Amino acid sequence: MYKQIRLRKGKEESLRSFHPWVFSGAIAHIDEGVSEGEVVRVVTCSGDFIAVGHYQEGSIAVRVLTFADVPVDDGFWASRLRSAFQMRLAVGIAPTDEMLVSGNVHNNTYRLVHGEGDNLPGLIIDVYGETAVMQAHSIGMHLCRKQIARQLSVVMEDRIKHIYYKSETTLPFMTADDMNGFLYGGSDDNVAVENGLRFRVDWLKGQKTGFFVDQRENRSLLEQYAHGKRVLNMFCYTGGFSVYAMRGGAELVHSVDSSAKAIELTRKNVELNFPGDSRHEAFCEDAFKYLDHLPFSDKAECGQCSYDLIILDPPAFAKHRGALHNALKGYTRLNQKAFEKIERGGILFTFSCSQVVTKDHFRNAVFTAAALAKRKVRILHQLHQPADHPINIYHPEGEYLKGLVLYVE
Ligand code: SAH
Repeated sequence: MYKQIRLRKGKEESLRSFHPWVFSGAIAHIDEGVSEGEVVRVVTCSGDFIAVGHYQEGSIAVRVLTFADVPVDDGFWASRLRSAFQMRLAVGIAPTDEMLVSGNVHNNTYRLVHGEGDNLPGLIIDVYGETAVMQAHSIGMHLCRKQIARQLSVVMEDRIKHIYYKSETTLPFMTADDMNGFLYGGSDDNVAVENGLRFRVDWLKGQKTGFFVDQRENRSLLEQYAHGKRVLNMFCYTGGFSVYAMRGGAELVHSVDSSAKAIELTRKNVELNFPGDSRHEAFCEDAFKYLDHLPFSDKAECGQCSYDLIILDPPAFAKHRGALHNALKGYTRLNQKAFEKIERGGILFTFSCSQVVTKDHFRNAVFTAAALAKRKVRILHQLHQPADHPINIYHPEGEYLKGLVLYVE
């Protein structure tokens, strides 16, 4: 039987409506000897069962694994993982068995587990072909990593031959031992296929699990707009948007990132899909400075501006609520620069992946940028995270990626 955490009177309300977190302020009593990452039973002040979850010191004290009074054992992990996989199959994101047998796989890159969105708070698993990259965001998940990896290989059978664990950056306060490495199999083959395009994924040293899986559908939409366009892909990282723009028939594609490693990855991925194609160039530079050096579109002759399709996909400007105000200023500044420089009749794809920045906040920041740049702007699409990054309806905090596609006159 698990040790218990007793809530203060009335503090079970949000859990009764299935919100998966217990905040430290809601706790009246913790059984003696409960350690970091341990599985605990959460009960009301009168001792009624509420949930089972991982305990961790800090503001989020318990991340709920289940609202049923059941053990967190092999069967539990297998059932959660199976449910996550079934959903990706049902919505057509994971390749079917027939596709795998025939070798006709258009997409083998997807998020298999998206934390709270898959009722597994603190756990991320991205799949790249036969490799799964697993990341823990809580000590509880870190302690369970081997058990989860075993069950993952059982549930996924032959589909997954390698499981790489990568939590050095997400659990930085832990010792480096055991934070990165293969838990199952082991392979250097790291080419992932996304919508028929190939990407070299550096899960050993890359950001997150090595690739931003969440932009797959938005990249596809960009491809449809790219024909004949001069494209600027800002914050390109592995060059995802650039490669799609090239397949879409762009006239030229320029990729910009401040990281030399990202520029190297972008060049490799362009070369992998379009060897020797001179339409692409990559620049290692700060995005704000790069935009500053472009001519203002109202000063240039029509057709003389540098770019008529710009993508802005910066890193999260706000990692916590305290940074919100400055982050919004950052989004306004960045978008204003793009509005000032984009060709008349140009199209801007602009994103925010900061969880604390809501859709309305972001739209407001972009609206302010448009007004400051004095451009006439229409919203063509409102974008968001794809179905393999689901939002648990009881956990609205799971919504993080938002984007706007704008027609700029
Ligand atoms: N658009 C990418 C993901 C972008 S991640 C994709 O589709 O995969 C954010 C990227 O912004 C990182 O590669 C990071 O190196 C880069 N970056 C961060 N600050 C920057 C800055 N000031 N100027 C240019 N690039 C920056």
